[in-house]
Amino acid sequence: MPVVENNHFRVGDFKCIALSDCVGTMPGQCIVKDVPADQVSAVFAEHSLSLSETVFHYNCLYLETDRQRILIDAGLGRAAPRDSAALDRLEAAGLLRSAIPTLEGALLDRLQAEGLRAADIDRVIITHCDGDHIGGLSAGNERVFPNADYIFLKDAWEFWSDEARVAQWPEFLMVFGRKTLPLIQDRLQIVEAGAEFMPGFRLLAVPGHRPGHTAVAITSAGQHLIHVADAIGHPLLMEYPHWHGFADLRHEQAAQDRVRLLSMAVEQQALVFGSHLPFPGVGHVVPHGEGWCWEPLAHP
Ligand SMILES: [Zn+2]
Repeated sequence: MPVVENNHFRVGDFKCIALSDCVGTMPGQCIVKDVPADQVSAVFAEHSLSLSETVFHYNCLYLETDRQRILIDAGLGRAAPRDSAALDRLEAAGLLRSAIPTLEGALLDRLQAEGLRAADIDRVIITHCDGDHIGGLSAGNERVFPNADYIFLKDAWEFWSDEARVAQWPEFLMVFGRKTLPLIQDRLQIVEAGAEFMPGFRLLAVPGHRPGHTAVAITSAGQHLIHVADAIGHPLLMEYPHWHGFADLRHEQAAQDRVRLLSMAVEQQALVFGSHLPFPGVGHVVPHGEGWCWEPLAHP
């Protein structure tokens, strides 16, 4: 049984470090929607989860191969709104105020604690352009990772290149992509879903959460890791993969995405890492009832 020690673990020859960008709380209604309230209450009680204050994690993943130092997503940075006028605007746009992260991302501090500087990062794989995933790519109008190339799914690039499509979705979700992509455009590497863009790394298109949203499939020495990004925002969505995730834009597609990723994880006996799964966010899944059960990687 693999273990995670000080948030370090391995996938074959690759060294992996789970990094906590921040941890917040939000009401249980911000995890799922369109599910009868009594059913949600019963399931939360069964899992000893608080409905009023559900702990919500923001995780990034660092990987090191023999050639590259790689980050998957860059956390919130200073993207989170902290002034009340910005929060008012988001609330007016339909967000539950208590679900809006207002914390500053700690990713750079976490990297530093591991002896890593922003300039050491060779590649950043971008799963999608929400503020809690790309907010940390820029500070003002400067790039935070001066030497990095950015891996970006072709479907995402086609979406972001088509203003008519971008304009269809709520602006508060699109604002980070609009701001950040021009800053890194000259270092973007556009990658097709399924293509091995560097040894052991492939992107898996899972567009239910956001147009162009991607998971990352990683293989080394016969071991597998699937970084599901926001396709599975909470372990309850493994057990009930057809429930609607509150943050997903296209619910039926998101449910199909979850079933595909979780089936693949069981088939490959892969580790699963999630951006919002309880830190350190890595574990296995096993079939359970109509869905899957989350088994976090054991601490030694
Ligand atoms: Zn997210």
